[in-house]
Amino acid sequence: MNREEIIERLREEDSGKLFREADQVRKVYCGDEVHLRGIIEFSNCCWRSCLYCGLRRENKKILRYRMPPDEIIELASRIVESEVRTIVLQSGDDFRYNRKMLSIIISRIKKENPGIALTLSLGERPLADYKAWKDAGADRYLLKHETANPRLYERLHPGQTLKERLKILAYLRRLDYQVGAGNIVGLPGQSLRDLADDILLMKNLEVDMAGIGPFIPQKDTPLGIYPSGNLDLTLKVLALTRIVTQNTHLPATTALSTLNPAQGQIMALKAGANVIMPDFTPEQERKNYIIYDNKTRVDLERAKELISKVQRLISQNRGDSLKWKRHQRAFAST
Ligand code: SF4
Repeated sequence: MNREEIIERLREEDSGKLFREADQVRKVYCGDEVHLRGIIEFSNCCWRSCLYCGLRRENKKILRYRMPPDEIIELASRIVESEVRTIVLQSGDDFRYNRKMLSIIISRIKKENPGIALTLSLGERPLADYKAWKDAGADRYLLKHETANPRLYERLHPGQTLKERLKILAYLRRLDYQVGAGNIVGLPGQSLRDLADDILLMKNLEVDMAGIGPFIPQKDTPLGIYPSGNLDLTLKVLALTRIVTQNTHLPATTALSTLNPAQGQIMALKAGANVIMPDFTPEQERKNYIIYDNKTRVDLERAKELISKVQRLISQNRGDSLKWKRHQRAFAST
């Protein structure tokens, strides 16, 4: 599909038809398994100022926390005991956890839990950090591009550029990470054309995974007065990303369940999603990881309940990217 065709589909009134199509593509390319990714939000400190995010450094209203390395490692092992095969370490852009400290955390988690996959979502760092963490055993890196419109990107992320973010994504690919991008749907000032460009960008980058969630305001940010993104439009972007990128891992994001606690993620699982990311962050810390307001908690029990409601299966493997496996095979045969 080209940009105009995607925009046309985003305008369609009968979204049910689009969701059914995406569900078929998901079935053919990814099967019926849903992959679980256990997430640890280990620090809510961030030195950036993204206009939509409650963790921005100017926000003095949240209690900041940092989990000690030993606690992170121990929690990772507990997650693995619950039969989740991918651990996601996520934080704000927090340089207090330096290259060496994170390398130690990564190598210990990988050593103590053989066979699991480790995803990092730690924002923009010096390139040498990504290399060190790959060498330490990290498998995947999630760095959402947020919006493919460079002017909107710069307005929302003071001091940052889309060009730099894309450069980092390309570098992560060269390091042989499984790479994730993703966008926010319903940002103030965003157009359908921007959303079509997001989908085409994810296609062109051949991302292994993509997080697609609605904009939800956080009251203590400059965008706190704007309305949330639209659930139906977010699901349409998800469905079209499935159709256009075929076998990319696509989570039913927690933000969807914040918009519609009972149905949001179920609708996503029926519109192309094949991943859920249950949150294992301890209660004390989790309540201060306020990227947006009223974030619902999706724990392991809830994730399993959602999968059973859509009559799908929980994956028993670590759910590597299907694209990445193909790249690996091509590389091995040269
Ligand atoms: S979106 Fe990420 S980088 Fe931006 S302020 Fe929030 S945590 Fe920091």
